[in-house]
Amino acid sequence: MPKSNRVFVCRTARYNEDMRPLFRAIEPTVYSGLLDDPVVSVRVRPRGKSLLLDCGQITHLAKRVLRSVEALFITHAHMDHFMGFDTFVRHVHVSPKTIDLFGPPGIAARLERKLGGYDWNLTESHWCTFRAHEVGGNLVSTWFLPGAEGFPLRFAGETQRADRTIYENRHLRVEAETGDHGLPVLFFRLTETPSFLLDEDKVDSEGLQPGSWMGVLKKNFYRGTLGEEPLEIVRKDQGECRRETIENTRTLYERIRREEPPASLGYFTDLAFSEANREKIVSLLQGVSLLIAECTFLAEDVEKARASRHLCTDDVNTLLQELRPRFFLPLHLSKTYIHRTAQLYEELRMPPGTTLLKIPDHIPPRPLIPAEVPAPAPVFDSHSKPASRDDATTRR
Ligand SMILES: [Zn+2]
Ligand SMILES: [Zn+2]
Repeated sequence: MPKSNRVFVCRTARYNEDMRPLFRAIEPTVYSGLLDDPVVSVRVRPRGKSLLLDCGQITHLAKRVLRSVEALFITHAHMDHFMGFDTFVRHVHVSPKTIDLFGPPGIAARLERKLGGYDWNLTESHWCTFRAHEVGGNLVSTWFLPGAEGFPLRFAGETQRADRTIYENRHLRVEAETGDHGLPVLFFRLTETPSFLLDEDKVDSEGLQPGSWMGVLKKNFYRGTLGEEPLEIVRKDQGECRRETIENTRTLYERIRREEPPASLGYFTDLAFSEANREKIVSLLQGVSLLIAECTFLAEDVEKARASRHLCTDDVNTLLQELRPRFFLPLHLSKTYIHRTAQLYEELRMPPGTTLLKIPDHIPPRPLIPAEVPAPAPVFDSHSKPASRDDATTRR
């Protein structure tokens, strides 16, 4: 079993075509095994914060991981994707912060009912607030659930969707699309913000001498101030170096930047294999760097896949032909295949350029049976006599 599901192997495994890490700012970790209820954390390293994609099996996530979560993205409210939310609340509710949660229409009322299932008579003014966003086709509706008041649901307004983007910070953008699973299901694309990259050949062919001006250009790029101030660069001219002032640094950067699409992560699960879903999946997720997606059934159970509006291996193979991710990681395999998970990897066919990634069947700690739980041991002090051997009870 690998030491961790951190993504992603690209940091340690060796790929001939590209030794660089797949992502620069984000670090996805699949916290669920192949047969577990899905949960993926995405650490945004420069912020020291995380995002959660679905909230299935989360009892084994470290408290500090849960406390770093600033936004959750819930595909739909089937129990296997949302039941971990209570555990999440237990770890974060006394923190003074606002946590965003994105889900399909109806998710805000579900949050209200989940949180309304507990007594909150001991709330304090610094408790966290949830900000729930229901992502519809044209609108995003937002509600607040302030912990200081015991998490009542307060409508905060709605905004027209200009495009697919539902969440953004300096380091990444999250886009969402809605698919069908007998009910609306969200699926997501996380794209890193473009990095400052220079093409050495272009720098050379422009006759530019590398120097401290590159650092100034980089600073302006990340501050968003390219083109606002002139920059003194050094140019090589017939063996001589001479200083020159560039008025428009934006144009300069466009001429010498390295063309490289930003890394992206696609995540979808629980979708029917329909033409409408296929079109939307391909439109949002084609060419992502890493695709993490459902593959619930083996090919022989295609009828079960159709009946429950899930995907089987043949469906996933068809989608992969169009999606062509660099890496593909299947999850959410039906627990009925517990003794033959290897067959999943045999049936999946990767298109050229796609590497199939494998995760453990389960991520520990696995549930324990009674015989594995340490038996209570008697505690003796100087006033009590040890029980005789015959009286001792043991599970072993
Ligand atoms: Zn599911
Ligand atoms: Zn489902």
